[in-house]
Amino acid sequence: MEPDLHPRLAAEIAARRDDLIALTQDLIRIPTLNPPGRHYREICDYLSDRLSARGFVTALVRAEGAPGDSETWPRWNMVARREGSAPGDCVHFNSHHDVVEVGHGWTREPFGGELDGDRIYGRGACDMKGGLAASIIAAEAFIATCPDFTGAIEISATADEESGGYGGVAYLAGQGWFDPDRVQHVIIPEPLHKDRICLGHRGVWWAEVETKGRIAHGSMPFLGDSAIRHMGAVLEEIEHRLYPHLSTKRTAMPVVPEGARQSTLNINSIHGGEAEAEPGFTGLPAPCVADRCRIVLDRRFLIEEALPEVKAEMTSLLDGLKSSRPGFDYTIRDLFEVQPTMTERAAPVVRSTAAAIEKVLGQGADFVVSPGTYDQKHIDRIGRLKNCIAYGPGLLHLAHQPDEWVGVQDMQDSALVMALVLADLLAPAAR
Ligand SMILES: [Zn+2]
Repeated sequence: MEPDLHPRLAAEIAARRDDLIALTQDLIRIPTLNPPGRHYREICDYLSDRLSARGFVTALVRAEGAPGDSETWPRWNMVARREGSAPGDCVHFNSHHDVVEVGHGWTREPFGGELDGDRIYGRGACDMKGGLAASIIAAEAFIATCPDFTGAIEISATADEESGGYGGVAYLAGQGWFDPDRVQHVIIPEPLHKDRICLGHRGVWWAEVETKGRIAHGSMPFLGDSAIRHMGAVLEEIEHRLYPHLSTKRTAMPVVPEGARQSTLNINSIHGGEAEAEPGFTGLPAPCVADRCRIVLDRRFLIEEALPEVKAEMTSLLDGLKSSRPGFDYTIRDLFEVQPTMTERAAPVVRSTAAAIEKVLGQGADFVVSPGTYDQKHIDRIGRLKNCIAYGPGLLHLAHQPDEWVGVQDMQDSALVMALVLADLLAPAAR
């Protein structure tokens, strides 16, 4: 990189402060709620208009046939590409444009984009319209500073990250948009904060376990067989054998928070016996022995664990009960699975971002791994692209909360980090 690029990029980004604020506010004011997937086309059109006015070639891609896609709620995505003056690497910034429901407890207008001091408030401010805006400002400032850059810059805004990403990054990856021969570096500006590089995430396995019973009159339970009591035995095994075992499985992945640096299991729900009464029904329940009981398990696993071994842990527990407990029978059904992923610290995008953080903040970057998954899973598995990180402004604990906000200074600092990454990877003098 030319030695004087850092101050010039810093000046370009500082000069764009009002633009950055207005852009973030505009994005928040388009209420892209998911579910069901509102205003996706509108936000894609907005971004396409902005970026095509600045020399990007843009494409609107509908994830036809993806889960959730319908004529009423089409899953729209936007991809913009700006070619440099000569062939070279492509750096891609991927942000999801959907936001989760508002929920209760707000003291600000959820879609108002209110600026108060250094903070911009609104649903999606931190997760992750602030990151999207910062990456756009970073790219625009870099292009103004180095109009003769080599390679290409891409910016995408994708659907449905909050519901698995199948109508967004997974669809685009399946169509080849993240193939390593067209994209070489990916930054996902999720709110991990300006001094942290997120290398990946743990794995996920969701499954539903059902125990079987036999219905009978509740006054003579001995004539039936209670699926709820059988499930009680399952929970007992989980409590006294599985949880202690999981807590011994530690990972070398730098997962934050610290409590997630091991295998974890959550029991998402339990349902047994007769269904809950309809709202408005004022009668009593009927006396019946429960003939079925179901739980949904959410197991998060480590890069050191293999998924078949994770599943076998649960089935061997259930099979043990089947042989020791009279009348016990079960079924287990897979609901969802994601492999863990972790980008190497030596990967070019990691090294470049770490060096930029050091320049901008005067301190070394923290390397972290996310306890939950995000769209990197699709870029890794479907796109086969390993050189990918999450890096962006915003405090992770504010995501999905009431009065969510993003800091303007944090957005500016991380935009400068992203612009320096572009300068490092795409400016001719850098090579
Ligand atoms: Zn997010």
